Amino acid sequence: MAKVGFIGLGNMGGPMAANLVKAGHEVRGLDLSAEAKARLVEAGGKTADNLAELASDADVIVSMLPAGAHVRKVYAGEDGILAHARPGTLLIDSSTIDVESARFVAAAAEKAGMPMVDAPVSGGVGGASAGTLTFMVGGPDAAFEAARPYLDVMGKTIVHAGGAGTGQAAKICNNMLLGISMIGTCEAFVLAERLGLDPQKLFDISSTASGQCWSLTTYCPVPGPVPTSPANRDYQPGFAAAMMLKDLKLAQEAAHASGASTPLGAEAAALYNLFCNGGDANTDFSGIVRFLRGKTEA
Ligand code: NAD
Repeated sequence: MAKVGFIGLGNMGGPMAANLVKAGHEVRGLDLSAEAKARLVEAGGKTADNLAELASDADVIVSMLPAGAHVRKVYAGEDGILAHARPGTLLIDSSTIDVESARFVAAAAEKAGMPMVDAPVSGGVGGASAGTLTFMVGGPDAAFEAARPYLDVMGKTIVHAGGAGTGQAAKICNNMLLGISMIGTCEAFVLAERLGLDPQKLFDISSTASGQCWSLTTYCPVPGPVPTSPANRDYQPGFAAAMMLKDLKLAQEAAHASGASTPLGAEAAALYNLFCNGGDANTDFSGIVRFLRGKTEA
């Protein structure tokens, strides 16, 4: 069993760290919030007061932080992980961040002699608690193999996407596609309503025809056809619109930096921005159907 340092014990990191404790690892956690640290202690873990204390004694370090700036600071900042961990310490960053920051930190870790992977997740808080997350992993083969046993404890599906940064690339490409397909699905239902076509009939036809997609068949944005979808509980998340907007913005940053043409991704980001600014940041992302309906002329 390993000594694991865990940084960022929030909605996702808290239950992920608890699953590592359950698997028998000695977990020492760090967070800015005292309550988050207390929850880890309740789950059987220990806490650290600073990065130096956490890093100097760890075999493995996992982080689950809000954004790229936090990850750069925690790893490569003055007094960060790279300044205090032993060479050979395995580093796993599971935060969803920009590809550029992921590659910057991975290069700094390599220089310090520490194998590192970027391993963002999908599956949400439910998946983090149940240990059924999907991990999209970027990094060298050896680092991936070293990280796999820890990821197996926290997730169900572990995919090696390629070299450093490709885990983040996979995450934002997938979520850009999801944002676009959700808006497309919502538009189809709004148009159907206008044309007097019963939403259930549209579902029955499109779910077995060429319009079939996950946003329709698993996460249907109107109440009725898929009883488990957030549409049936007044669009309580689920996957909050603010999280979708974060991922769409990361996709746009990456598209600009790499010169990729993603006009529908840009439009999806603009629409989710309006939706969130209208007071729906904490509404499930499929709730954008109400916003699109509102924009339809009477
Ligand atoms: P969160 O805000 O609940 O947790 C982040 C934690 O990091 C907080 O507890 C905060 O106090 C801590 N933190 C920030 N800076 C720190 C520092 N310098 N040192 C120590 N702790 C620090 O967020 P979350 O929902 O757990 O999301 C974490 C990451 O997971 C994000 O990148 C998010 O995009 C990604 N993600 C979230 C979900 C989801 O459904 N919540 C799903 C997939 C991916």
